Amino acid sequence: MEFTEIQQNLKAIAATVTDGCRLVAVSKYHPTSAIQECYNLGQRVFGESHEQELRLKQASLPKDIQWHFIGHLQTNKVKYIAPYITMIETVDSIKLLREIERQGAKNNRCINVLLELHIAQEETKYGLTKDACRQLLEEGEWREMEHVRICGLMTMASNTDNEEQIRQEFTEAANFFDELKERFFKDDASFSERSWGMSGDYLIAQQCRSTLVRIGTAIFGERQY
Ligand SMILES: *Cc1c(COP(=O)(O)O)cnc(C)c1O
Repeated sequence: MEFTEIQQNLKAIAATVTDGCRLVAVSKYHPTSAIQECYNLGQRVFGESHEQELRLKQASLPKDIQWHFIGHLQTNKVKYIAPYITMIETVDSIKLLREIERQGAKNNRCINVLLELHIAQEETKYGLTKDACRQLLEEGEWREMEHVRICGLMTMASNTDNEEQIRQEFTEAANFFDELKERFFKDDASFSERSWGMSGDYLIAQQCRSTLVRIGTAIFGERQY
């Protein structure tokens, strides 16, 4: 069998994903044919960040693909992904969580989510600060939600070449995960995911206890916007 360039990239990346960590192949802006190439090698978890793009891809690709939503999600878009999404990694408000609960109920399913943590230094990035995250959990409304399952944290490191800074940020996220686990999820085995690491920093992320790495460019090449 001959492998395409994307397939060779996927195999090389997959070989470096450590035990206890899973690969989310980030396919945004890449065609369904590229996703299918990865699917043919056994990859099942894909990440997309735009609802409309995801909707079209989901409709035309195999139904056993596990889609992770990794972009900023507007509340009015939740209804479109609620029927099939495997995990929404970018929950950053109680308002969004409420809408996911509402749509989960409508679809008679429990939707897995991650809380998006803002650790990086850039101001433009979305996500909850550690304090906002603590507050959301302390207020406790999530405990009544039967159609949402909070499975862990997602974060992005600063966009920098400074490896020490990246390592420091992922370590901070990992420590914060432990704090939340202890305070709110001690008896909840579902709270187990730490989604950090992209093409440029996933090796560092894995050393900082990542359980999901979200890799696009290193598999699919540069995105065509
Ligand atoms: C695009 C994106 C990725 C993948 O980034 P690459 O550098 O292409 O690997 C990972 N996470 C999020 C949230 C993204 O938006």
